[in-house]
This record gives sequence, structure tokens and C-alpha cells, in this order.
Amino acid sequence: MRIIDEVKDAKTIAIGGHVRPDGDCIGSVMGLYLYLKRVMPKAEIDVYLDKPADIFQCISHIEDIKSEFNTNKVYDVFVALDTTDERLGDAEPIYRNACKKINIDHHISNSGCGDVSIVEPKRSSTAELLYDLMEPEMVDEEIAKAIYIGIAHDTGVFRYSNTSPRTLQIVAELIKFGFDFSKIVEETFFEKTYLQTQIMGRAVLESVRFMHERCIVSMVSRRMMEFYCVTPKDLDGIVNHLQSVKGVDCAIFMYETGTLEYKVSMRSNGKVDVAAIAMKFGGGGHVRAAGCTMNGTYHDNINNLSIEIAEQLKNE
Ligand code: AMP
Ligand code: MN
Ligand code: MN
Repeated sequence: MRIIDEVKDAKTIAIGGHVRPDGDCIGSVMGLYLYLKRVMPKAEIDVYLDKPADIFQCISHIEDIKSEFNTNKVYDVFVALDTTDERLGDAEPIYRNACKKINIDHHISNSGCGDVSIVEPKRSSTAELLYDLMEPEMVDEEIAKAIYIGIAHDTGVFRYSNTSPRTLQIVAELIKFGFDFSKIVEETFFEKTYLQTQIMGRAVLESVRFMHERCIVSMVSRRMMEFYCVTPKDLDGIVNHLQSVKGVDCAIFMYETGTLEYKVSMRSNGKVDVAAIAMKFGGGGHVRAAGCTMNGTYHDNINNLSIEIAEQLKNE
């Protein structure tokens, strides 16, 4: 299937992704935007997404993203990328009103929410899947760069087990365009500001292991975020850092989003299916990386998650 076959008759197209967009979401949304602008120059194309972190300024036309969602506009097509409709945030009503809904995603927790749904959980990233829906000869350097960022971010720079031979074949095709991929991964993935490094250090310092040291958890409160002058975007990478501790099967990181409300991120080495746990609490994701929002105290949330983890490890 080619994406163009599904959108070619549309005069107005909207593209969106999930709230708190990550590299894959931003790379996919921008990759598709740049691609459709190129192959359908007459179509009117809008992008709806929460404001991306500044590191993504390297993506061409990122300033075209609309982060004001107050519109009654009815689009011929809406393409929702890297998410289900529930996680589109304020763009959800625009999606619902669109004449044709297309959903492209790689989350195992997504059962498809479009008139056309392409959900492939084996794909490393939505960006990888999207590339295979494009006509390669219509991909240019700027599109390639956006897709590359998406794949690099969701594979932890081609390290995680979701990296397949196809992932690397695509990456090989993309880097032929000659952009400075090394600089891109350094600046968008590895480089941290001093304050981001400090709060990461604090979260690691205050982490606690439990369940015979097979699990690790840490939390950042709103007060801590204020103290270090950081926002949730600055907390990316902390959970992965916790997961890299030797002997840990499951890492949990939470940050406070409101009174008795936490955004929870989980990572696993495969022994624990964190997507299944996140889904029990209304979230989702992948077997080795998933998330949800939980209400209750920090300790209650750990207890509730522990019960689920223990249940899975018991069956080992
Ligand atoms: P995070 O811990 O936020 O980095 O998310 C890990 C993975 O789970 C990513 O692929 C997210 O897109 C996905 N994810 C996180 N939170 C949710 C949620 N509430 N619902 C569905 N998927 C989620
Ligand atoms: Mn994502
Ligand atoms: Mn993704």
C-alpha cells in the first residue's frame, strides 16, 4: 500500500500525533507533512501537534506546526501518526470530524482507530513504517532527515531489540542523502542541558530498587521540576537510564502532572510485558517501553504496579 493512494483525492489534509510528542512522533508527522507537500503541492495541509522541544528545530518547516487547536475546519483526510485517537489531545475533535481518518502506528496496544488503519507492532517506529508507505523516489533530504530522527529516537539510536534488518536498510537509504546524521543524533538524542543532567542525576540518586533488586523506581515531583526550572520535556531519557542498571528487569519513572496524578514510564528487558501493565491502567505502548497516567499517591502507584509485575515474574 502507498499512502498517496489513500489521500490523492483530498483537497484538505490534517496530520497529527500524540500529546507530549517524542522524536518518532515529531519525525513521522513532519516527514509525512514534507512528503505530502512535495507530492501534492496543490493540497492544503495542516499539522496539529503540541509544541515540539527546541532540539527539533533542525527539522525543516517545523515552525508550520499548529499548536492552537481551536478550529471547526472539516478536513477531507486526517492522518493520525504514532497514536490512537484517544491520545491526540486537543486535535481529537478535528480527527473525529474529518471525512476520512487514517491511522498509522506501531503500538501493540493500538487496535486501529481509522477508516484505514495500518498498525504494525513489529516496526521499530512509526517513521519506519511510514517510509515504506512512501514512494522512495519522492523522498528528498529534508524528508529523509525527519524520518531518520523518528527511527533513531524510537530505537535508542539503533540499539533496542525493535531494530530489524529492514530498519537498518531504510536508515542506509536515508543517510545516502548526506545530511549530518552524527550531529543530529548528538544534538537531538544524547546532548542534555546542564539542568536536564542535574535532574537526571537527582532522579538516579533517589531511585530505589525493590522486588529482590529486579525493579527500580524513581520520581520527580512538581516542586523538583520548579527547583531545577525544567518541564516534562526535560525528563526524557531518565527511565532508560534506570533500565540500564545491571540486574534490573523493569524500570519505572514517574513525574507529577497534577495533584495525586503522575505520568508513568516503564521500560523492561523483555521479561516483563510493560505494555500489558500500562494497558491495565489506561495507557499503552510496547512490550519493552510503555506508559500511562496514574492517580493516587506515589507509593500507592508503586504498589499497584508491583502487584502486576510480581504476577508476571511469578509465571516466569
Ligand atoms: P514513554 O514512557 O512516555 O516514553 O512511552 C513509552 C512508549 O509507550 C511510547 O511508545 C509511548 O508512545 C507509549 N505510551 C506512553 N504513554 C502512553 C499512553 N498513555 N497510552 C498509550 N501509549 C503510551
Ligand atoms: Mn511516540
Ligand atoms: Mn513510536
